[in-house]
Amino acid sequence: MDLMKKVPVREQDPQIRATNFEEVSYGYNDEEALLEAKRCLNCRNPLCMKGCPVSINIPGFISKLKEGKIEEAAEVIALSSALPAVCGRVCPQESQCEGKCIRGIKGEAVSIGKLERYVADWTREHGFNPAKKAEPNGHKVAVIGSGPAGLTCAGDLAKAGYDVTIFEAFHKAGGVLVYGIPEFRLPKDKVVAAEIENVRKLGVKIETNVVVGRSITVDELMASGYEAVFIGTGAGLPKFMNIPGEIYNGVFSANEFLTRNNLMKAFQEDADTPIKCGKKVVVVGGGNVAMDAARTALRLGAEVHVVYRRSMAELPARVEEVHHAQQEGVIFDLLQNPVEILGDENDQVKGIVIRKMELGEPDASGRRRPVEVEGSDYVMDCDTVIMSLGTSPNPLIRSTTSGLETNKHGCIIAKDENGETSKIGVYAGGDAVTGAATVILAMGAGKAAAKGIDEYLSGK
Ligand code: FAD
Ligand code: SF4
Repeated sequence: MDLMKKVPVREQDPQIRATNFEEVSYGYNDEEALLEAKRCLNCRNPLCMKGCPVSINIPGFISKLKEGKIEEAAEVIALSSALPAVCGRVCPQESQCEGKCIRGIKGEAVSIGKLERYVADWTREHGFNPAKKAEPNGHKVAVIGSGPAGLTCAGDLAKAGYDVTIFEAFHKAGGVLVYGIPEFRLPKDKVVAAEIENVRKLGVKIETNVVVGRSITVDELMASGYEAVFIGTGAGLPKFMNIPGEIYNGVFSANEFLTRNNLMKAFQEDADTPIKCGKKVVVVGGGNVAMDAARTALRLGAEVHVVYRRSMAELPARVEEVHHAQQEGVIFDLLQNPVEILGDENDQVKGIVIRKMELGEPDASGRRRPVEVEGSDYVMDCDTVIMSLGTSPNPLIRSTTSGLETNKHGCIIAKDENGETSKIGVYAGGDAVTGAATVILAMGAGKAAAKGIDEYLSGK
């Protein structure tokens, strides 16, 4: 075995997986996980942990794995994370724990994410639940939103004895984990539902179909006996380009396109919600959400073009996702930007006008600024356009909660690292505070807020 290299992970064949919604990566089996675990040096100063936003004891759980004590490995992870099977699949490890792993200096980093996934899958498949229920402490807390921020905050509070109820607008809990990230990256029933069930087993109650701000307000929740509230409502409001033609039939936001497919299973013939995915689809944008929309459209049988205004080097999506999309047949049209969408006499999309770009000087983000190439416009025929240009928080909570301060982007302002807001007893975290970010950052914020709420209510 070459210790400089990761044990490779088996995946579905690209040609086959491009036609189905089953999970792309198979994960490690027992033998592969043990081999990979042995690559960990059990560093005295484990830099990997510094890269983990929830500070999982990485060498601690890998050591247990090496000894074959998988239940104990799961217990180590459970001290820091309520969603290990999710994180093992979707976290950008290359820029976090694995990005800091000492093995990465001369060779490839330890596959920390795949090992975390292995431990979480093993425990689920063997019916072992590492989280322990606590004695009630008599305090009631409301959590708004059941995404990774809300689930983590609720789970940590329940472990400290709080009586926690999550209020969720959708009919299913999980936030982006159920409505955004597709099945082929994150299986819903097998993985997400099982991890949510573990949070429920801690005593957390989840009330779905409750839109806070409409069904009940934050102020009313507090008046009805909840002593603290955590807001983890995410950033689900899509942005558009404001170019002519965005009103034509066949233009979707990536969020709507993915929600109809993931949550409402629109790709199945008997689904209540139809989705009209055409034969030639243009996805505008280059982030993880764009990759998910492109790969979903591909699986629905379309020829898919990702149109992105910078080059491959600036593409914000995870390297693994871009690689998978390319393998499956998604076409990348780089250094190009749409300027108009064209419609036919029935107001149905029939094409998109695209302008070529070149890279100029770096902008405030440090990435080279795209500059338009004069006279380069051309028309690409297509029947569907999916806009994937980022999202911002929905204004409902801020417009219905007294004394809650937000910034110019509509994000709730957290005064400190524990997510304390301008309203006493109200904490916030995740995408609702930062704008669209990552699962693990949302979990880190939920964890910090649980600590802040505990200190506030227990007077510590
Ligand atoms: P969310 O997950 O958005 O959850 C918020 C919840 O609050 C939702 O369930 C929503 O219905 C509910 N809610 C909103 N308003 C109300 C209300 N008024 N009342 C009651 N409930 C309400 N991150 C990664 O790390 N890796 C990835 O691979 C990745 N891929 C992504 C792919 C897609 C398509 C998308 C959209 C995002 C992706 N992300 C990824 C980002 C990541 O999913 C988010 O950063 C994360 O889910 C944010 O968690 P959250 O708990 O703050 O919010
Ligand atoms: Fe193991 Fe890498 Fe962490 Fe060191 S930095 S403990 S080798 S995972």
